[in-house]
Amino acid sequence: MDDLERAQDILARAERITVLTGAGISAESGVPTFRGAGGLWENHRPEELATPQAFARDPELVWRWYHWRRGLIARCRPNPAHRALVALERCTPRFTLITQNVDGLHQAAGSRQVLPIHGSIWHLRCTACGTVREDRRLDLPALPTCDDCGGLLRPDVVWFGESLDPELLQRAWQAAHQAEVMLVVGTSAVVQPAAGLAQVAHEAGAAVIEVNLEPTPNSGWVEVVLLGKAGEILPRLVEAL
Ligand code: NAD
Ligand code: ZN
Repeated sequence: MDDLERAQDILARAERITVLTGAGISAESGVPTFRGAGGLWENHRPEELATPQAFARDPELVWRWYHWRRGLIARCRPNPAHRALVALERCTPRFTLITQNVDGLHQAAGSRQVLPIHGSIWHLRCTACGTVREDRRLDLPALPTCDDCGGLLRPDVVWFGESLDPELLQRAWQAAHQAEVMLVVGTSAVVQPAAGLAQVAHEAGAAVIEVNLEPTPNSGWVEVVLLGKAGEILPRLVEAL
């Protein structure tokens, strides 16, 4: 049996599957990852823009980056990897998809049980009153403000150094803990606490299957490592089910 067949076999036996996705699954849709090629924007690294400090110092710069990303993501469509996870959900009794992505492509593909633990680029949150609203407009003002209180709006995403929504995190932790199989796709496994979810599943007895272009810090101990493009591997993983 080769690694792909082993992974297919593990998935075919499982009734409780939890998936964790990162930026890599959307790369083939045209959404740049933070750490790969194309991660730079006007010579700024994402780690210098996606922070509360950057937003406090220069909200217009941070918003310009988000206006650019929203325009870019608006033109992107789900790829075969997103669609394969929709198919996997349909044939799995208990399925949870935890995603670090903020692009909304899993939901656009038709995935239902999605925990977007890093938020959504299509939701805006008021920095004054806290109201969150979906807003997909691409012609926002340079510094968008709240309809209710006039406060400055920000993307409703989790920036470096910020904590995750405790309820979402709790549900993600539970899904990882209860999984028979944890499928980890396109994440470099260095951003905590999301990276620790695979470890939680592993320690609770799940088989962890990793799909990535290259080895990650998790590759040494996971059950199966499948190296390659998510858009090619995931359809083959689920076609046998
Ligand atoms: P990352 O950029 O750190 O890592 C991406 C990983 O995907 C790498 O390990 C890379 O080897 C792998 N990869 C790239 N192309 C792939 C492909 N075609 N198939 C399989 N794997 C591929 O991303 P991260 O670990 O998710 O962390 C960055 C954080 O930034 C995320 O938590 C997220 O919130 C945010 N982010 C989101 C998006 C998005 O919504 N699409 C994009 C960039 C960053
Ligand atoms: Zn407000």
